[in-house]
Amino acid sequence: MHDVIIIGAGLSGLTTAFALSKEGIDYKIIEGRNRAGGRINSLDGPLEMGATWLGNQHTHLISLLKALDLEIFPQHTKGQIAYEVSSVQPIQYFDFPPGQAPSYRIKGGSSKLIQALIDKLAPASILYNTEVSSINDQGKLVEVCLTNGQVYTASKVVVTIPPQLLERSVLFTPPLSAEKVSNMAQTHTWMGESIKYGVTYSSPFWKAKGLSGMGFSQVGVVQEVHDHTDFDQKFFALKGFLNSALASKTFEERKSEVIKVLIRLFGPEANEYLDYHEHVWSNDRLTSVLNPIPVVPHQNNGNPLLRENAFNGKLIFSGTESSAEYPGYMDGAVYSGFDSAKKVLEQYQSSLES
Ligand SMILES: Cc1cc2nc3c(=O)[nH]c(=O)nc-3n(C[C@H](O)[C@H](O)[C@H](O)COP(=O)(O)OP(=O)(O)OC[C@H]3O[C@@H](n4cnc5c(N)ncnc54)[C@H](O)[C@@H]3O)c2cc1C
Repeated sequence: MHDVIIIGAGLSGLTTAFALSKEGIDYKIIEGRNRAGGRINSLDGPLEMGATWLGNQHTHLISLLKALDLEIFPQHTKGQIAYEVSSVQPIQYFDFPPGQAPSYRIKGGSSKLIQALIDKLAPASILYNTEVSSINDQGKLVEVCLTNGQVYTASKVVVTIPPQLLERSVLFTPPLSAEKVSNMAQTHTWMGESIKYGVTYSSPFWKAKGLSGMGFSQVGVVQEVHDHTDFDQKFFALKGFLNSALASKTFEERKSEVIKVLIRLFGPEANEYLDYHEHVWSNDRLTSVLNPIPVVPHQNNGNPLLRENAFNGKLIFSGTESSAEYPGYMDGAVYSGFDSAKKVLEQYQSSLES
């Protein structure tokens, strides 16, 4: 029996745990994957397979980074941008348009934020490889059942699973309102259909040619490319997004297509890569659902219904899609994480007073 069970060790769930641990509230985090971070996943390098950039407007995230002594650095944009309009025209090169709002990366990688939060939690706060299958209102308590047959109980449950996946994968007793269920089912999972790739090199050959490493193509499968040199200038990569239709292709097919486009955009040196990495988020069953109800990007994100409590306030819905501010972004995950902790603490306070 715990005061609070948090479902999901992504940025939102860990932020809630961080805030609750400061107040001495007992909690347990239940995480389906064998790692924390959810849609934040930095491979060695660091090479980001998930969230990467933030802006000055993301004040909740920036405050959290400061509180955890983490630093940011600007995304490299110096040099020309390569643009492939059609297969019969030469690649066009142009300068980065002036007056663009800067975007930043976290020094050491986005997963540094995840690790810094975990370091603030009590040891063994997170149960890994444990998937929730149902959540039941038991009057004073909430019961959380796992796919492995284990059952946990708590006074409050904070659930951070992306709404569309939550609606598909977790059973609620008593059922949630029809309006809420329909809303969750029609909420876009931010970047849930994206395919991210990263190609590593021994040197940033594109910079030597006056190129920024940024590129766009309307021809091949590579939609975007960005320089992914680390802050210490010791790790070099080009990283970006593929057309989501490529999810049905094989790893080798996608890799070969990516290298071909990089050669066209940046020159033959692009073939001298060290390694190719990718993450097909639509095939990741702890982020996305197979055959989702078609929704437009960002649909319903931030809808107040998504963060409406259930089970008389004992069940709190959290996660970036539910956030009142910057839903979908890391900033939204941080905002919703703190907001959910606030809801828990307010209820805890009023139960002490009554
Ligand atoms: C490719 C990509 C690029 C992105 N780029 C950016 C960017 O540049 N800037 C930005 O601000 N944001 C970006 N984002 C969005 C950012 O990653 C998210 O806003 C943020 O990480 C969401 O955190 P969360 O905790 O709300 O959700 P999640 O990270 O999805 O966490 C939910 C957790 O719940 C777990 N879970 C799921 N089902 C179960 C279950 N049944 N039982 C137990 N656990 C379960 C999952 O494993 C996961 O750890 C990007 C996302 C992706 C995928």
